[in-house]
Amino acid sequence: MLVKGVTFYLESDLPSEANFLLEDFRLAVNNAIRAGLRARVTSRNALNKLAYKDFRREHPRMYSQHLVSAFEVAGSVLKNHRRRFRKGVTSRIPYVRRLMMRAENQAYKLDRKSGVVDLPIRAGCHVELRLIVSQYHRKYLGDMALTLGSLTVLPDRVIVAFRKDAPKPFVPESALSLDTNERSLDGVFVEGDVANAVKAEFPEVAIIQQRHHDRRRRLQKKKAFDRRISRKLCGREGAREHRRINYRLHQVANSVLKFAEERKSAIVLEDLKGFKSKRSKELNRRLSVWPRRKLHQIIEYKAQWKGIPVVKVDPRNSSRTCPICRRIKYSRMGAEFKCECGWCLDRHINASINLLQTAISKGMAGGLWFNPGAFQHDVMMILYEPAMAARSEPNGTSGIVGVT
Ligand SMILES: [Zn+2]
Repeated sequence: MLVKGVTFYLESDLPSEANFLLEDFRLAVNNAIRAGLRARVTSRNALNKLAYKDFRREHPRMYSQHLVSAFEVAGSVLKNHRRRFRKGVTSRIPYVRRLMMRAENQAYKLDRKSGVVDLPIRAGCHVELRLIVSQYHRKYLGDMALTLGSLTVLPDRVIVAFRKDAPKPFVPESALSLDTNERSLDGVFVEGDVANAVKAEFPEVAIIQQRHHDRRRRLQKKKAFDRRISRKLCGREGAREHRRINYRLHQVANSVLKFAEERKSAIVLEDLKGFKSKRSKELNRRLSVWPRRKLHQIIEYKAQWKGIPVVKVDPRNSSRTCPICRRIKYSRMGAEFKCECGWCLDRHINASINLLQTAISKGMAGGLWFNPGAFQHDVMMILYEPAMAARSEPNGTSGIVGVT
């Protein structure tokens, strides 16, 4: 089952009853977190058994399904906490600060035509939330193949989870193999006997990362006398950075997927799982790997949603191997990969060819085959470039909620 969270803003402020509900819900979540920590349980059912009676007494007016949903939220916070704790990331006792509540799909009604949410507060008390519905939102509201999941209510917006069964991926008629770099995706598109270089550039991601990194360093120095303020400002910087980078990564992913969808391509990516950037020392100079991982996550998720096959292969030696004679070069190289056999190509595109060959040799690319000799050196297809961001306008935001 795939889940996609779609954000809707509200036509007017949240009614005061709903505001009280958010506060009550947050209180219930934080109480449940403490109860869970004391009893060392993290699952919703365990929390429910443990604390339902007390909670019913403490929150006598809350709709009981919301109470159960508070256990669910607390459970996921606790699981995160436990994971961080085990990893050794110093983790204080978790506490939910932001005002929020989540209603399960039986605990609210959404009229998909008018965009009006009916949210029960307690017995005999409901509120109506009018959502602002754009064309982007209609795509989800109008698609009856999508069922409604949970509703997350925040002070100024709501997030509706839309769910569907993962469609069966199509049989690929071509392949798009991409090598993921700090500033671009570089790769090869193969259809029949023809192979062309492709490129999707996102140089701003690295620039934004560098700028925010420098700014955080300055903040830390300037506010060194006050750890609390320093941490707060850095946190805010981090959130802004993520938002700005995520927006660009979504744009890049969308253009890649549009291309693959139109040409019925399988997408081949390197598996970044084992890829570790050495912490601390190197991190100050080199940019972290998370935008690349995030980009893969977005591409994979959106591809699953659209039924586009994605193949992930082990990238070992992909940047050092000659696709023609299979020699492996261990010496450092520049922007070009040059082999004694005469093969010469942009290093990143060469890597993508090797990724594709690995995918084919493992039988992961359907019945496709590829001859590196067919590569056309003089053609470059641009999937995405920064100038394209100016042309597209966002009319809504969406995020990955998760896969269940
Ligand atoms: Zn060679």
